[in-house]
Amino acid sequence: MKEDPRDISEALSGSIPGEFERRAREAGLSWRFVRVSRDPEVWIYLGESGDYIVIPGLYCSCPRFQLSLTAGPPYGCHHVYGLRVAVKEGRYREVEGLDLAQVVHEVFTMGRAVSVRRIIFTS
Ligand SMILES: [Zn+2]
Repeated sequence: MKEDPRDISEALSGSIPGEFERRAREAGLSWRFVRVSRDPEVWIYLGESGDYIVIPGLYCSCPRFQLSLTAGPPYGCHHVYGLRVAVKEGRYREVEGLDLAQVVHEVFTMGRAVSVRRIIFTS
């Protein structure tokens, strides 16, 4: 079980800077995380300037995460940590029945999960 990538964020959680932790906590409590698929487990973060794909403990499609891979610091982004807070506190939403490939395509081509937003903000 130690190979589970989620353990990476678990191990780092005590050593990330306070400001980073504050932003992660803020994101986690914001109700902006939406689970769009359980298997594979895929989440969307509905951001102010763009929506991001988040894979628990592993990946986020935001610019900050990409920057951390190349220029550091090697914490990833606050969305990956924020998702853990959201799940722990039960502050997330879930939509079912979406075409995952379409959602991913929307985020990578338009920067917005249009089909997710349509459901969240019209129901
Ligand atoms: Zn991110």
